[in-house]
Amino acid sequence: QSSADLVRDNTTLTPDFPQPGILFRDLSPLFANADAFRQVVEQLAEPFAGRFDLVAGAEARGFVLAAGVAIATGKGALPLRKPGKLPPPVLSESYSLEYGDASLQLTEGLIPPARVLLIDDVLATGGTLAAARRLLERAGHEVVGVAVVIELPELKGRARISDLEAHALLSE
Ligand code: IMP
Repeated sequence: QSSADLVRDNTTLTPDFPQPGILFRDLSPLFANADAFRQVVEQLAEPFAGRFDLVAGAEARGFVLAAGVAIATGKGALPLRKPGKLPPPVLSESYSLEYGDASLQLTEGLIPPARVLLIDDVLATGGTLAAARRLLERAGHEVVGVAVVIELPELKGRARISDLEAHALLSE
């Protein structure tokens, strides 16, 4: 089974959630399927093998995948938090989503500069990954690439991170 089929077969599609006009992809069935989850985390990391020391993911769905990729590859995980979760001093980056505004935070000066692979479930407009990347770079890290389970190419999110190597298991 191709990685695109694996993702398609283990994802739900819900129209008009959380707002009218959004076709929402949920990866819960994939996380609950041990074989599919293992294959997906391995395939996310595979193009970047040997080129990263830490795996970053944005709260909350990115945490599940980033932790899985970190364990599967013997690396550490770097959680990017929502506002109000981390003690000071924090770095913050704000961005807009398909549906609303958001921010991500990272503790300043806590984790020594590293080569970071950035992971998320869905690449939509690219606002989340672009903000995550700015945050990581402000903290001194090098973002070596981005890996997502699903890319929605019609939203052109890749253009917001066009200078980064980006890998998607399913693009449609
Ligand atoms: P972007 O910032 O517009 O690229 O949106 C990506 C972020 O929004 C990711 O962190 C996703 O978790 C979330 N997201 C956007 N669209 C969907 C979707 O259809 N299903 C699940 N999450 C989504």
